[in-house]
Amino acid sequence: MARKLMTARLERKDCLSEIAQCYHFEFVLDELKSFRFAPGQFVSAVAQDAEGREQTRAYSMASAPRGNRFELCVNRVQEGFFSNRLADLTDLPSGGTIEIDGPHGYFLLHAPITDSILIATGTGIAPMRSFLHWLFPSDGPEAATDRSNGKQIWLVHGTRHESELYYRAEFEALAHRRANFHYLPTLSLAPKSWTGLRGHVQQHVTSIVQERAARLGQPLPAPPPDPALLPSELSFDIYAYICGLSQMVSDVRQSLAGFGWHRKQMVSESYD
Ligand SMILES: Cc1cc2nc3c(=O)[nH]c(=O)nc-3n(C[C@H](O)[C@H](O)[C@H](O)COP(=O)(O)OP(=O)(O)OC[C@H]3O[C@@H](n4cnc5c(N)ncnc54)[C@H](O)[C@@H]3O)c2cc1C
Repeated sequence: MARKLMTARLERKDCLSEIAQCYHFEFVLDELKSFRFAPGQFVSAVAQDAEGREQTRAYSMASAPRGNRFELCVNRVQEGFFSNRLADLTDLPSGGTIEIDGPHGYFLLHAPITDSILIATGTGIAPMRSFLHWLFPSDGPEAATDRSNGKQIWLVHGTRHESELYYRAEFEALAHRRANFHYLPTLSLAPKSWTGLRGHVQQHVTSIVQERAARLGQPLPAPPPDPALLPSELSFDIYAYICGLSQMVSDVRQSLAGFGWHRKQMVSESYD
């Protein structure tokens, strides 16, 4: 059966980084009253290539559900088909629309909310922003809402350069507003003048896990869960949500497994 495509109209496009050619997009689905999705899900964007073949690419929502709108964060990939279409979108003769279907995906926050480490590299920040907008809405009728249950939420965002720390001002403002939200941007190619964190995300995730276990008096490595429990009965007091290229996802999973973390405690999405 042919899938039902929807036309998304571009309402706003901002350049997040000239150097990385990364853009923030705000789309409206005029045919819908409301576009329901869970924070962390993605849309499939569909277009025909020059040979008339249908091409589909996934893009994570960078926003929480809000009416008939959704936002994306996409960087131009060299020679890439769809990322370049999006990056050039305002120039398209169609007047700034794309065809999508969705929402799709299982990169979702566990309920109830626990302590959580959100770990992203590059545009892997998109679903993390969706989570954070849902956890801590900052405008509209839900502005006073806090869905974090007072749990500790860390965001570790790794990039090469400072110019790639997308939405930095927004996350800094959130960290200022909410004492239980901690923003840890880290640069792998930091210049001498950079006074923040350096290196890959894994080392900072390691510090968070070690410091938390020490503070709570919990053993590390963590003891394995009761083998009598069914997988569906397992629950943990902390989860990691990891998004970006597969090498980083697998490195972080491996280092958390070294602390005795169960695979169900690590929710991940790979972009490649
Ligand atoms: C669930 C999911 C969610 C995603 N969400 C986002 C998102 O929010 N923002 C975003 O920018 N991307 C996201 N992606 C990646 C996106 O789907 C595309 O893969 C990416 O935009 C490249 O597509 P393209 O058509 O431009 O390149 P293609 O024409 O598919 O590939 C061109 C070349 O680039 C390489 N390549 C493909 N993908 C990447 C990549 N991500 N990084 C570097 N090189 C690559 C290919 O190996 C190939 O050599 C997501 C992927 C998945 C699976």
